[in-house]
Amino acid sequence: MPEHNNETKEMAQFLIREIDRLVTKPVRLMEVCGTHTVAIFRAGIRQLLPPQVDLVSGPGCPVCVTPDEYIDKAVAYARCEDVILTTFGDMLRVPGSTSSLGEVKATGADIRVVYSPLESLTIAAQNPHKKIIFLAVGFETTAPTAAATVLATKKQNLTNLFLLSSHKIVPPALKVLLADPAVNIDGFLLPGHVCAITGERPFDFLPETYHMPAVVAGFEPLEILRTIYRLARQIHDDQPTIENEYKRIVKPDGNPAARQILSEVYEPTDAVWRGIGMIPDSGLRMKEQYSAFDAQVVLPMVTKTIAKKTACRCGEVLRGIIKPTACQLFGKACVPEHPIGACMVSVEGSCAAWYKYGSGR
Ligand code: SF4
Repeated sequence: MPEHNNETKEMAQFLIREIDRLVTKPVRLMEVCGTHTVAIFRAGIRQLLPPQVDLVSGPGCPVCVTPDEYIDKAVAYARCEDVILTTFGDMLRVPGSTSSLGEVKATGADIRVVYSPLESLTIAAQNPHKKIIFLAVGFETTAPTAAATVLATKKQNLTNLFLLSSHKIVPPALKVLLADPAVNIDGFLLPGHVCAITGERPFDFLPETYHMPAVVAGFEPLEILRTIYRLARQIHDDQPTIENEYKRIVKPDGNPAARQILSEVYEPTDAVWRGIGMIPDSGLRMKEQYSAFDAQVVLPMVTKTIAKKTACRCGEVLRGIIKPTACQLFGKACVPEHPIGACMVSVEGSCAAWYKYGSGR
């Protein structure tokens, strides 16, 4: 751990000793969230853990799970002269089946990077003769802001701002992982930011249906170590439950106000996750009463996605079946400057994190 005082160091050493004592056989724990993957690397936690505890990354990087079909559609919109595309920066480098948004931007398409979807309101007001399309990707964490953007667009009587929605919901993806015989997980570090919105209850199925330990994790090194300690204790005692190691942010019922905005605008729908496939009820689509702001309804775009043959193993990486270093392209043909798969694009992508911080173990 890079920065610590004596008390923190002693606590970390105590937790590591306890984890070693409690875990008597090899276990694989999945950090669902890409932010955790990066935080674990930064703190050097993999190297601190006893060898019988293996950490694997999960599907919690929104850019990584955005499928080719969505990128192809965004590229097609960006090529329209009367369209301004607004997006988070990470999306520019995600490869579609024929092109990335960054490549289209380089040819003159008007694609603007924003830090919040709400910035699209100003761009829409300043460009009344253009159609502004915001690429709405992300999990429960970012979806409420997208929903708030829709409500603000309506309130401001803007008729030229639309969302291309590909929001996703985490719990259904975990159910699919647990039903996959190739996936071998003994416990989950649950995504703190997602749980800040949803609360703990949507993850109750983990212990109740799958006898699976789960702990809501914070992002500080000691919070992560305490999360792993709690998981180790649950495994040792064979008493899986949901615990919360991020109580300073995550309340049991999450953020009801954000969820209310979300459910006002969105409803669940089936969604395709890159590398995993279609997952029932794992996405969000705009309700009919807000279809005037849905790019796919108002400005329908038909695209043909060309299936690519590549040795990219993102699908296995996202399901925690392999580590990025097991991919033969890792660090050779596939590097952050030239990503072959989406897991190497985002800073929170597993492959990018393993490349940047070293393979660890
Ligand atoms: Fe795909 Fe690159 Fe990761 Fe291999 S290293 S799985 S090619 S993103």
